[in-house]
Amino acid sequence: MSERARAPAGTMRAMVLDAGGRRLRSMRVPVPQPGPDEVLIRVRACGVCRTDLHIVDGELTNPKLPLIPGHEIVGTVAGFGARAGGFSEGDRVGVPWLGFSCGSCRYCVAGQENLCEHAEFTGYTRDGGYAEYTVADRRYCFRVTGYPSDEEAAPLLCAGLIGYRAYRMTGEGAESLGIYGFGAAAHIIAQVARHQGKRIFAFTSPGDAEAQQFARRLGAVWAGDSTQLPPEELDAAIIFAPVGSLLPAALKATRRGGSVVCGGIHMSDIPTFPYSLLWGERVVRSVANLTRRDGEELLAIAPAVPVRTKVQVFALEEANEALGRLRSGRIQGAAVLVNRSETGRAGKTHETSG
Ligand SMILES: [Zn+2]
Ligand SMILES: [Zn+2]
Repeated sequence: MSERARAPAGTMRAMVLDAGGRRLRSMRVPVPQPGPDEVLIRVRACGVCRTDLHIVDGELTNPKLPLIPGHEIVGTVAGFGARAGGFSEGDRVGVPWLGFSCGSCRYCVAGQENLCEHAEFTGYTRDGGYAEYTVADRRYCFRVTGYPSDEEAAPLLCAGLIGYRAYRMTGEGAESLGIYGFGAAAHIIAQVARHQGKRIFAFTSPGDAEAQQFARRLGAVWAGDSTQLPPEELDAAIIFAPVGSLLPAALKATRRGGSVVCGGIHMSDIPTFPYSLLWGERVVRSVANLTRRDGEELLAIAPAVPVRTKVQVFALEEANEALGRLRSGRIQGAAVLVNRSETGRAGKTHETSG
Protein backbone atom coordinates (compact mmCIF):
# COMPACT_ATOMS: atom_id res chain seq x y z
CA MET A 1 0.00 0.00 0.00
CA SER A 2 1.66 3.21 -1.11
CA GLU A 3 -0.50 5.67 0.70
CA ARG A 4 -1.10 5.50 4.40
CA ALA A 5 -4.26 6.92 5.82
CA ARG A 6 -3.35 9.62 8.26
CA ALA A 7 -4.66 9.27 11.78
CA PRO A 8 -6.90 12.10 12.86
CA ALA A 9 -5.18 14.40 15.29
CA GLY A 10 -6.87 15.81 18.33
CA THR A 11 -8.95 14.30 21.06
CA MET A 12 -11.75 11.80 21.38
CA ARG A 13 -14.46 10.82 23.86
CA ALA A 14 -13.57 7.82 26.04
CA MET A 15 -14.92 6.08 29.13
CA VAL A 16 -11.99 5.64 31.50
CA LEU A 17 -11.43 3.42 34.54
CA ASP A 18 -9.13 5.04 37.13
CA ALA A 19 -9.19 2.15 39.60
CA GLY A 20 -11.14 -1.04 40.29
CA GLY A 21 -14.40 -0.43 42.13
CA ARG A 22 -14.96 3.04 40.64
CA ARG A 23 -17.38 4.26 38.01
CA LEU A 24 -16.01 4.95 34.55
CA ARG A 25 -15.29 8.59 33.83
CA SER A 26 -16.45 10.17 30.58
CA MET A 27 -13.57 12.33 29.36
CA ARG A 28 -11.67 13.61 26.35
CA VAL A 29 -8.30 12.00 25.73
CA PRO A 30 -5.85 12.18 22.82
CA VAL A 31 -6.71 9.99 19.81
CA PRO A 32 -4.19 7.09 20.03
CA GLN A 33 -1.54 6.89 17.32
CA PRO A 34 -0.97 3.45 15.78
CA GLY A 35 2.38 1.76 16.40
CA PRO A 36 4.24 0.09 13.50
CA ASP A 37 2.10 -3.08 13.46
CA GLU A 38 -1.14 -1.41 14.50
CA VAL A 39 -4.20 -0.07 12.80
CA LEU A 40 -6.21 2.87 14.04
CA ILE A 41 -9.89 1.97 14.22
CA ARG A 42 -12.91 4.22 14.33
CA VAL A 43 -15.05 2.33 16.85
CA ARG A 44 -18.63 1.85 15.66
CA ALA A 45 -19.83 -0.54 18.34
CA CYS A 46 -18.33 -2.21 21.41
CA GLY A 47 -20.01 -4.98 23.34
CA VAL A 48 -20.17 -4.91 27.13
CA CYS A 49 -18.86 -8.23 28.40
CA ARG A 50 -19.10 -9.72 31.88
CA THR A 51 -15.30 -9.61 31.95
CA ASP A 52 -15.54 -5.81 31.75
CA LEU A 53 -17.65 -5.97 34.87
CA HIS A 54 -15.05 -8.14 36.64
CA ILE A 55 -12.40 -5.56 35.68
CA VAL A 56 -14.43 -2.50 36.67
CA ASP A 57 -15.48 -4.13 39.95
CA GLY A 58 -11.86 -5.00 40.77
CA GLU A 59 -12.30 -8.79 40.66
CA LEU A 60 -9.65 -9.03 37.93
CA THR A 61 -6.83 -7.29 39.63
CA ASN A 62 -4.14 -6.43 37.08
CA PRO A 63 -5.56 -4.01 34.55
CA LYS A 64 -3.44 -1.23 33.06
CA LEU A 65 -4.56 1.99 34.72
CA PRO A 66 -6.03 4.31 33.73
CA LEU A 67 -7.82 1.96 31.33
CA ILE A 68 -10.29 2.24 28.48
CA PRO A 69 -12.21 -1.07 28.78
CA GLY A 70 -13.98 -2.96 25.99
CA HIS A 71 -12.94 -5.96 23.92
CA GLU A 72 -15.86 -6.67 21.60
CA ILE A 73 -15.01 -3.99 19.09
CA VAL A 74 -16.39 -3.52 15.61
CA GLY A 75 -15.17 -0.55 13.65
CA THR A 76 -13.59 0.71 10.48
CA VAL A 77 -9.92 1.12 9.72
CA ALA A 78 -8.97 4.80 9.89
CA GLY A 79 -5.16 4.72 9.85
CA PHE A 80 -2.10 2.49 9.75
CA GLY A 81 1.31 2.06 11.28
CA ALA A 82 4.34 1.68 9.00
CA ARG A 83 4.18 -2.14 8.86
CA ALA A 84 0.41 -2.59 9.17
CA GLY A 85 -0.47 -3.84 5.68
CA GLY A 86 -3.33 -6.13 4.82
CA PHE A 87 -6.16 -3.71 5.50
CA SER A 88 -7.45 -0.69 3.61
CA GLU A 89 -8.99 2.43 5.00
CA GLY A 90 -12.67 1.84 5.64
CA ASP A 91 -12.36 -1.94 6.04
CA ARG A 92 -14.70 -3.29 8.69
CA VAL A 93 -12.77 -5.10 11.39
CA GLY A 94 -13.37 -6.75 14.73
CA VAL A 95 -11.01 -6.66 17.69
CA PRO A 96 -11.22 -9.48 20.28
CA TRP A 97 -9.93 -10.01 23.82
CA LEU A 98 -6.62 -11.51 22.67
CA GLY A 99 -4.69 -8.41 21.59
CA PHE A 100 -1.22 -9.89 21.27
CA SER A 101 0.72 -13.13 21.80
CA CYS A 102 4.48 -13.51 21.70
CA GLY A 103 4.74 -16.31 19.13
CA SER A 104 7.74 -17.87 20.87
CA CYS A 105 6.78 -19.16 24.33
CA ARG A 106 6.04 -22.88 24.79
CA TYR A 107 2.29 -22.27 24.46
CA CYS A 108 2.48 -20.18 21.31
CA VAL A 109 4.80 -22.73 19.71
CA ALA A 110 2.32 -25.49 20.58
CA GLY A 111 -0.58 -23.63 18.95
CA GLN A 112 -2.02 -22.52 22.30
CA GLU A 113 -1.63 -18.78 21.89
CA ASN A 114 -4.64 -18.35 24.18
CA LEU A 115 -2.32 -19.43 27.03
CA CYS A 116 0.66 -17.27 25.94
CA GLU A 117 2.90 -16.24 28.83
CA HIS A 118 3.26 -12.75 27.40
CA ALA A 119 -0.23 -12.24 26.04
CA GLU A 120 -1.86 -8.83 26.01
CA PHE A 121 -5.57 -8.38 26.33
CA THR A 122 -7.76 -5.75 24.76
CA GLY A 123 -9.55 -3.59 27.30
CA TYR A 124 -7.45 -5.03 30.16
CA THR A 125 -3.72 -4.74 29.55
CA ARG A 126 -4.26 -2.61 26.41
CA ASP A 127 -6.80 0.14 25.94
CA GLY A 128 -10.02 -1.08 24.38
CA GLY A 129 -13.16 0.04 22.66
CA TYR A 130 -15.14 2.21 25.11
CA ALA A 131 -14.00 5.18 23.02
CA GLU A 132 -14.37 6.80 19.64
CA TYR A 133 -11.06 5.37 18.41
CA THR A 134 -8.76 2.55 19.39
CA VAL A 135 -5.55 1.02 18.08
CA ALA A 136 -5.04 -2.72 17.64
CA ASP A 137 -2.30 -4.99 16.36
CA ARG A 138 -3.45 -5.79 12.83
CA ARG A 139 -2.50 -9.48 13.23
CA TYR A 140 -5.18 -9.87 15.91
CA CYS A 141 -7.97 -8.09 14.01
CA PHE A 142 -10.62 -10.05 12.15
CA ARG A 143 -12.50 -9.05 9.05
CA VAL A 144 -16.19 -8.81 9.90
CA THR A 145 -18.50 -9.62 7.01
CA GLY A 146 -22.03 -10.89 6.63
CA TYR A 147 -23.59 -8.77 9.38
CA PRO A 148 -25.67 -5.77 8.39
CA SER A 149 -25.08 -3.75 11.54
CA ASP A 150 -22.07 -3.17 13.74
CA GLU A 151 -23.97 -3.60 17.00
CA GLU A 152 -25.27 -7.04 16.00
CA ALA A 153 -21.77 -8.20 15.18
CA ALA A 154 -20.05 -6.84 18.32
CA PRO A 155 -21.17 -9.59 20.77
CA LEU A 156 -19.62 -12.21 18.50
CA LEU A 157 -16.16 -10.84 19.30
CA CYS A 158 -16.08 -12.22 22.85
CA ALA A 159 -19.36 -13.74 23.98
CA GLY A 160 -19.35 -15.50 20.63
CA LEU A 161 -15.68 -16.43 20.40
CA ILE A 162 -15.08 -17.62 23.93
CA GLY A 163 -18.50 -19.23 23.94
CA TYR A 164 -17.52 -21.03 20.76
CA ARG A 165 -14.25 -22.23 22.26
CA ALA A 166 -16.15 -23.56 25.29
CA TYR A 167 -18.65 -25.23 22.98
CA ARG A 168 -15.86 -26.83 20.93
CA MET A 169 -14.39 -28.30 24.15
CA THR A 170 -17.62 -30.23 24.81
CA GLY A 171 -16.71 -32.48 21.88
CA GLU A 172 -18.49 -33.42 18.69
CA GLY A 173 -20.17 -36.44 20.27
CA ALA A 174 -22.11 -34.37 22.80
CA GLU A 175 -25.69 -34.32 21.55
CA SER A 176 -27.47 -33.16 24.68
CA LEU A 177 -25.84 -30.01 25.93
CA GLY A 178 -26.58 -28.12 29.14
CA ILE A 179 -25.93 -24.38 29.29
CA TYR A 180 -25.79 -22.77 32.73
CA GLY A 181 -26.35 -19.00 32.59
CA PHE A 182 -28.30 -17.85 29.58
CA GLY A 183 -26.70 -14.50 28.75
CA ALA A 184 -24.76 -13.11 25.82
CA ALA A 185 -22.51 -16.12 25.19
CA ALA A 186 -25.27 -18.68 25.66
CA HIS A 187 -27.68 -16.96 23.31
CA ILE A 188 -25.10 -17.09 20.52
CA ILE A 189 -23.79 -20.59 21.16
CA ALA A 190 -27.26 -22.10 21.55
CA GLN A 191 -27.98 -21.10 17.96
CA VAL A 192 -24.73 -22.57 16.64
CA ALA A 193 -25.25 -25.78 18.63
CA ARG A 194 -28.83 -26.17 17.50
CA HIS A 195 -27.76 -25.61 13.90
CA GLN A 196 -25.32 -28.49 14.39
CA GLY A 197 -28.06 -30.79 15.61
CA LYS A 198 -27.50 -30.54 19.38
CA ARG A 199 -30.30 -30.52 21.93
CA ILE A 200 -30.00 -27.58 24.32
CA PHE A 201 -30.98 -27.64 27.98
CA ALA A 202 -30.90 -24.11 29.43
CA PHE A 203 -30.40 -23.41 33.13
CA THR A 204 -31.06 -19.96 34.55
CA SER A 205 -31.17 -18.32 37.98
CA PRO A 206 -34.05 -19.89 39.90
CA GLY A 207 -37.35 -18.33 38.87
CA ASP A 208 -36.02 -16.32 35.92
CA ALA A 209 -39.00 -17.13 33.70
CA GLU A 210 -38.08 -14.43 31.19
CA ALA A 211 -34.63 -15.90 30.54
CA GLN A 212 -36.12 -19.38 30.31
CA GLN A 213 -38.61 -18.19 27.73
CA PHE A 214 -35.80 -16.48 25.84
CA ALA A 215 -33.88 -19.77 25.79
CA ARG A 216 -36.90 -21.69 24.47
CA ARG A 217 -37.39 -19.10 21.73
CA LEU A 218 -33.80 -19.74 20.68
CA GLY A 219 -34.50 -23.44 20.37
CA ALA A 220 -33.75 -24.93 23.79
CA VAL A 221 -35.72 -28.16 24.17
CA TRP A 222 -35.91 -27.56 27.92
CA ALA A 223 -35.32 -24.55 30.16
CA GLY A 224 -35.46 -24.48 33.92
CA ASP A 225 -33.84 -23.41 37.19
CA SER A 226 -30.17 -24.17 37.79
CA THR A 227 -31.22 -26.01 40.96
CA GLN A 228 -33.24 -28.49 38.90
CA LEU A 229 -32.07 -31.65 37.18
CA PRO A 230 -32.83 -31.80 33.45
CA PRO A 231 -35.34 -34.41 32.19
CA GLU A 232 -32.49 -36.50 30.77
CA GLU A 233 -28.77 -36.92 31.43
CA LEU A 234 -26.53 -34.43 29.64
CA ASP A 235 -23.63 -35.46 27.42
CA ALA A 236 -21.87 -32.22 28.36
CA ALA A 237 -22.45 -28.88 30.02
CA ILE A 238 -21.05 -25.37 29.71
CA ILE A 239 -21.13 -22.99 32.66
CA PHE A 240 -21.19 -19.34 31.61
CA ALA A 241 -22.50 -17.89 34.89
CA PRO A 242 -19.67 -16.93 37.30
CA VAL A 243 -21.16 -19.02 40.10
CA GLY A 244 -19.01 -21.79 41.61
CA SER A 245 -21.93 -23.77 43.04
CA LEU A 246 -23.06 -24.50 39.47
CA LEU A 247 -20.10 -26.83 39.00
CA PRO A 248 -21.34 -29.65 41.26
CA ALA A 249 -24.87 -29.02 39.93
CA ALA A 250 -23.67 -29.46 36.35
CA LEU A 251 -21.65 -32.58 37.23
CA LYS A 252 -24.73 -34.09 38.80
CA ALA A 253 -26.65 -33.50 35.55
CA THR A 254 -23.93 -34.92 33.29
CA ARG A 255 -23.50 -38.57 32.33
CA ARG A 256 -20.41 -40.72 32.87
CA GLY A 257 -17.59 -39.69 30.52
CA GLY A 258 -19.17 -36.28 29.95
CA SER A 259 -17.46 -32.89 30.22
CA VAL A 260 -18.31 -29.78 32.19
CA VAL A 261 -16.64 -26.72 30.69
CA CYS A 262 -16.32 -23.46 32.63
CA GLY A 263 -16.45 -20.62 30.13
CA GLY A 264 -15.87 -17.60 32.37
CA ILE A 265 -12.66 -15.82 33.33
CA HIS A 266 -13.80 -15.47 36.93
CA MET A 267 -15.97 -17.64 39.15
CA SER A 268 -16.92 -17.55 42.81
CA ASP A 269 -15.41 -20.35 44.91
CA ILE A 270 -16.52 -23.85 44.12
CA PRO A 271 -18.05 -25.61 47.13
CA THR A 272 -16.75 -29.04 48.15
CA PHE A 273 -18.63 -31.92 46.63
CA PRO A 274 -18.55 -35.73 46.86
CA TYR A 275 -16.06 -37.48 44.61
CA SER A 276 -18.91 -39.60 43.24
CA LEU A 277 -20.01 -36.60 41.13
CA LEU A 278 -16.67 -36.62 39.32
CA TRP A 279 -16.24 -40.40 39.28
CA GLY A 280 -17.06 -42.18 36.02
CA GLU A 281 -14.45 -40.27 33.99
CA ARG A 282 -16.35 -37.02 34.05
CA VAL A 283 -14.10 -34.17 33.00
CA VAL A 284 -14.04 -30.64 34.42
CA ARG A 285 -12.11 -27.99 32.56
CA SER A 286 -11.91 -24.26 32.08
CA VAL A 287 -11.56 -22.34 28.85
CA ALA A 288 -9.14 -19.43 28.77
CA ASN A 289 -9.19 -16.61 26.22
CA LEU A 290 -9.27 -17.51 22.54
CA THR A 291 -7.04 -18.33 19.64
CA ARG A 292 -7.31 -16.58 16.30
CA ARG A 293 -8.45 -19.89 14.86
CA ASP A 294 -11.49 -19.84 17.17
CA GLY A 295 -12.29 -16.38 15.84
CA GLU A 296 -11.93 -17.26 12.20
CA GLU A 297 -14.10 -20.35 12.63
CA LEU A 298 -16.92 -18.64 14.47
CA LEU A 299 -16.97 -15.58 12.22
CA ALA A 300 -17.34 -17.92 9.24
CA ILE A 301 -20.05 -20.08 10.87
CA ALA A 302 -22.16 -17.29 12.40
CA PRO A 303 -23.51 -15.68 9.20
CA ALA A 304 -24.19 -19.16 7.76
CA VAL A 305 -26.39 -20.28 10.70
CA PRO A 306 -27.36 -17.37 10.75
CA VAL A 307 -26.77 -16.38 14.37
CA ARG A 308 -29.21 -13.69 15.42
CA THR A 309 -27.98 -11.52 18.25
CA LYS A 310 -30.28 -9.74 20.60
CA VAL A 311 -28.66 -6.49 21.64
CA GLN A 312 -29.52 -3.68 23.99
CA VAL A 313 -27.93 -0.56 22.59
CA PHE A 314 -26.46 2.20 24.76
CA ALA A 315 -24.59 5.36 23.82
CA LEU A 316 -20.87 5.31 24.68
CA GLU A 317 -21.47 7.77 27.55
CA GLU A 318 -24.01 5.35 29.05
CA ALA A 319 -21.38 2.66 29.74
CA ASN A 320 -21.92 2.82 33.52
CA GLU A 321 -25.64 2.30 33.02
CA ALA A 322 -24.99 -0.69 30.74
CA LEU A 323 -22.56 -2.22 33.26
CA GLY A 324 -25.05 -1.63 36.07
CA ARG A 325 -27.78 -3.45 34.21
CA LEU A 326 -25.47 -6.35 33.39
CA ARG A 327 -24.43 -6.54 37.07
CA SER A 328 -28.04 -6.80 38.21
CA GLY A 329 -29.08 -9.27 35.49
CA ARG A 330 -31.23 -6.79 33.58
CA ILE A 331 -29.71 -7.41 30.15
CA GLN A 332 -31.29 -9.98 27.90
CA GLY A 333 -28.85 -11.02 25.20
CA ALA A 334 -25.95 -8.56 24.99
CA ALA A 335 -25.36 -4.91 25.84
CA VAL A 336 -23.56 -2.88 23.19
CA LEU A 337 -22.19 0.67 23.26
CA VAL A 338 -22.42 2.63 20.04
CA ASN A 339 -20.74 5.74 18.81
CA ARG A 340 -23.36 7.79 17.14
CA SER A 341 -25.32 10.83 18.09
CA GLU A 342 -28.73 9.50 17.03
CA THR A 343 -28.81 6.72 19.66
CA GLY A 344 -32.19 6.47 21.34
CA ARG A 345 -32.98 5.87 24.98
CA ALA A 346 -30.73 3.77 27.17
CA GLY A 347 -31.28 0.06 26.89
CA LYS A 348 -33.25 0.16 23.66
CA THR A 349 -33.67 -3.47 22.64
CA HIS A 350 -33.75 -4.88 19.23
CA GLU A 351 -33.51 -8.30 17.79
CA THR A 352 -32.03 -8.67 14.37
CA SER A 353 -31.07 -11.28 11.92
CA GLY A 354 -27.48 -11.92 10.99
ZN1 LIG B 1 3.54 -16.74 23.72
ZN1 LIG C 1 -15.39 -10.82 27.01
